Amino acid sequence: MKTLLFAALLLMVSPGFSAPPTAPKKVALSFDDCPRRTGTLMNGMERARKLTKALKDAKTGPVVFFCNSPSRQPDGLERLKLFSAEGHLIANHTATHPDLYKTSVADFTREIETAHDELKDLPGFRKWFRFPYLHEGKTPEAVNGVRDLQPNSSG
Ligand SMILES: [Zn+2]
Repeated sequence: MKTLLFAALLLMVSPGFSAPPTAPKKVALSFDDCPRRTGTLMNGMERARKLTKALKDAKTGPVVFFCNSPSRQPDGLERLKLFSAEGHLIANHTATHPDLYKTSVADFTREIETAHDELKDLPGFRKWFRFPYLHEGKTPEAVNGVRDLQPNSSG
């Protein structure tokens, strides 16, 4: 039995043994909390231009920006339009980034719908959602209440 096991191991490490071919590996890039506040080093539009240029230079292809309501930041909508114009995707991350562990399902639902209404007309918008803090609810009611949500019929 030991000999058989040794022979099997030897076969697996021999140069003739190879794993079955697989598809090329891919990485998905995403950014949360867009549009972010203006920082001390550069304003939001400068940051957006540098980021899109860096993504283009790196030839990443489309990335996903999970966004809060753009109306909360100066030039917020303009920055998201720049991301869209560069071929990137826009998705929902609630209006104000509340924590579902500390927010009612009804309030959280309104947050999603508010952001949806502000984002839905942007080119590249997808009906995708990322939970702020990755908190998907502490109770089955919270988890199911949000997961079963269908964005309003306006788009
Ligand atoms: Zn976030």
